[in-house]
Amino acid sequence: MIAALTAELGPQGVLTGAEAAEKAFTPWGPLGTPLAILRPADTAQVAACLRLAAAHGMPVSAWGGKTGLVEGTYADGILALSMERMSDVEAVDRNGSTMIVQAGCVLQTACEAAEAAGMLLPLDLGARGSATIGGVISTNAGGNRVLRYGMMRDMVLGLEAVLADGTVVSAMKPLIKNNTGYDLKQLFIGSEGTLGVVTRAVLRLRPHPASQCTALLAVNDFASLPLLLRRAEAQLGGTLSAFEVMWPAFYELVTTAPAAGRPILPHGSNFYVLIEAMGSDEVADSERFERVLGGAMEDGLVSDAVVAKSRAEVGRMWGLRDDVAQLVRNFPIFTFDISLRIADMEAYLAEVRGRLLARWPNATLVVFGHLGDGNLHLVAGVGDSGAKHEVEEIVYGGLGTRNGSVSAEHGIGLQKRAWLSQSRSPAELAVMRAMKKALDPAGILNRGKVLEVN
Ligand code: ZN
Repeated sequence: MIAALTAELGPQGVLTGAEAAEKAFTPWGPLGTPLAILRPADTAQVAACLRLAAAHGMPVSAWGGKTGLVEGTYADGILALSMERMSDVEAVDRNGSTMIVQAGCVLQTACEAAEAAGMLLPLDLGARGSATIGGVISTNAGGNRVLRYGMMRDMVLGLEAVLADGTVVSAMKPLIKNNTGYDLKQLFIGSEGTLGVVTRAVLRLRPHPASQCTALLAVNDFASLPLLLRRAEAQLGGTLSAFEVMWPAFYELVTTAPAAGRPILPHGSNFYVLIEAMGSDEVADSERFERVLGGAMEDGLVSDAVVAKSRAEVGRMWGLRDDVAQLVRNFPIFTFDISLRIADMEAYLAEVRGRLLARWPNATLVVFGHLGDGNLHLVAGVGDSGAKHEVEEIVYGGLGTRNGSVSAEHGIGLQKRAWLSQSRSPAELAVMRAMKKALDPAGILNRGKVLEVN
């Protein structure tokens, strides 16, 4: 099989042994030792890889930036299909407000190409420098501006994918409206490479905003957070682009040594909100932004505020929110990305915190996230790396009754597979299994990820 793959892809296209081992590393989670890393140069070669793998009954895991957090790219003893050589931005259409990008293109490169044409590809997340377009499509990535622009799903107009048997499905229409039967591209968005390998995509672009207003706010009670969020949505004329909340333990971690960040607002508040609006008129937008925040302070929703006055200050504010590397200071840690209604968050967090502390009196629980999207990141440290399942039971336990989700944006991969039924009904799981069996009956694509079929 390796000889046949090498004949198809050329010697550059197949890495084995030490070369493969060197590439099979990421600090974000185990990748295993792949039998070989395949590096196709175009869609036809991806199809050839999958045809050959299928002929040998050999599973394949597609690799993008390898910065996923749920072991969705674990490839021990199987073939890894790296999209790194398919990294071109093929076209940017300014008037059509679209771009065509290959799956291996790094997100930041795609964003910069859009920006060079005066447009915005609005997906924004911490891994922007390593995540690839194929990866963010396959995982339906979210990030910091979902509130305004939606998740990756909302930016994909069309795509091309290769099925487990090597069939190329091209659905590359650059259309916003296309009600011609089943929307096949959605099969490949967020399905974590289990139904097909995304090779190219037509992405929807937005006007590049001319203004960016950013502020850090201190808020003292949870009840004020949704009031502040809805007020900002209503009064900022549709320009609200981020509403990120940091609980005190997170804010203290990212503003104390060895973190590079320092407090922009003093410690001691119950919540810190990073709020941002992106609009089209620098002067008018910033006046309105300050007026809305001023009103919120007068009405007691906000107790303290700093509005960024320069790009450097904007960078410092986002730098605090993005400095998730500090979380490892509570090592060993377990990280979660849950979803639930804002109205349920306060009681849910009190319950989780209470149960953690009752079991481990020195437990830490660091909370932050995209409150506007109902998505919180929880990072629990209990001093015991073997307590994963027990901590998961506590964190996921309160979600089912609250109609929440065990994954808002990171996906299921291998790590959350056992908890999928916490968020999905038996009927939903049966439909998922039927889809997997229909498109990949031999289980070639990312076998065992998301759900076990057999
Ligand atoms: Zn996030």
